[in-house]
Amino acid sequence: MDLGYGPEYELFREEVRAFLRQHWRAVDHPGEVAAFRKLAVDAGYLHRSVPRRYGGSEQPSDVLKARVIREEFTAARAPMEIKSLGTQLLVPTLLEAGADWQKERFIEPTITGQITWCQGYSEPGAGSDLASLRTRATLRDGRWVINGQKVWTSFAHEADYMFLLARTDPDAAKRKGLSYLLVPMDQPGVEVRPLRQITGESEFNEVFLTDVSTEADWIVGEPGDGWRVANTTLKHERAWVGDVADSDRLLNSLIRLARRTPGPGGRPWIEDAGLRSRLIEVQGFVEAHRYSGYHQLSRTLKGESTGVLGLTNKISSTGIAARIAAIALDIIGDAALLPHTGPGHQSPIGAERWMNQYFGSLGSAIAGGASNIQRNIIAQRGLGLPRDQAT
Ligand SMILES: Cc1cc2nc3c(=O)[nH]c(=O)nc-3n(C[C@H](O)[C@H](O)[C@H](O)COP(=O)(O)OP(=O)(O)OC[C@H]3O[C@@H](n4cnc5c(N)ncnc54)[C@H](O)[C@@H]3O)c2cc1C
Repeated sequence: MDLGYGPEYELFREEVRAFLRQHWRAVDHPGEVAAFRKLAVDAGYLHRSVPRRYGGSEQPSDVLKARVIREEFTAARAPMEIKSLGTQLLVPTLLEAGADWQKERFIEPTITGQITWCQGYSEPGAGSDLASLRTRATLRDGRWVINGQKVWTSFAHEADYMFLLARTDPDAAKRKGLSYLLVPMDQPGVEVRPLRQITGESEFNEVFLTDVSTEADWIVGEPGDGWRVANTTLKHERAWVGDVADSDRLLNSLIRLARRTPGPGGRPWIEDAGLRSRLIEVQGFVEAHRYSGYHQLSRTLKGESTGVLGLTNKISSTGIAARIAAIALDIIGDAALLPHTGPGHQSPIGAERWMNQYFGSLGSAIAGGASNIQRNIIAQRGLGLPRDQAT
């Protein structure tokens, strides 16, 4: 089996490398990073599926080229698209299901980071069972009036807008009565209360919506079409979480940590036989994840359905991240538990980062659909097993 990309793509790889050599300098000033991104869009490397009139580079769909770009940008540590709920979830959803004026108005400022979004799906009592959500939206005098509560809303405290699911037809069947609305956050009636997370940070929020309103045409798709539109977003969310490049990056950081941290007998941890076998085991999982990614890729290239591969890849990647972080914490030992802030508390081995990585990996296994639920879907739709009796 030849897993190379072939001469056409190796030529393309050279072209990307030449672009990066010419234009990428390790800068971190936001203006310079934005200028580089603009050049990369003009060259056709970023926002490839976004039409030029909405600020993208409008390239023919080519998953292998996209992968080559990702590999080369990652190797050069050059910035790719801004990672945000807006760019990764809303923009693809608008491209698939949005009205032309919505694409015109929202896509470019979202991909350039001028406006930011949060995702208002989950509610108390409606997480895994999202379709039972109770936030109501009613059309009154040409505007949707929204009442309800959202929870676990990442970055709601700093977002300009929320894309949310609300029940617009309480008499319709659970999934049929939902609509997908775009809502400005800066208005009376939107109350954002931060939730403190296990990491000590507060990215999450509860959001209370009391007579909040939005224009009648700030709806994506038709009224009652929200379930279908929301599933477009979830598909992108799972692909985002399930990327093998993240597993590679984490494994490499772990290996660097094991090389430079003294272990038993004062020798670097990397020389410890027990640790080496754990590393090899996790490397096996990363390789399996990679080939499962190739499998998904080749089915996409042949125009075949990828079935449940997107779900299995999300589960693999969150499981790998948790395993890697657990090994890192064993290497770091008690230092991981010390306070990390304040003078004299800066950890040279990145204890704080690994602690956050560990806790964050527990969250990633829940965000965008908990692993248990994904496993049930894989069992039923992928393997044809009977429905779980407990659900
Ligand atoms: C890091 C992170 C970021 C998030 N960001 C957002 C966001 O920005 N916007 C947003 O709307 N939501 C967000 N969420 C919420 C997320 O979508 C929900 O947490 C998730 O859907 C699970 O819902 P829940 O928390 O209500 O748990 P529940 O649905 O109550 O589930 C609790 C446990 O029971 C299990 N369970 C439930 N039902 C079944 C079943 N039928 N079969 C088997 N097991 C079952 C679940 O697997 C889970 O282990 C985020 C969550 C996390 C962790």
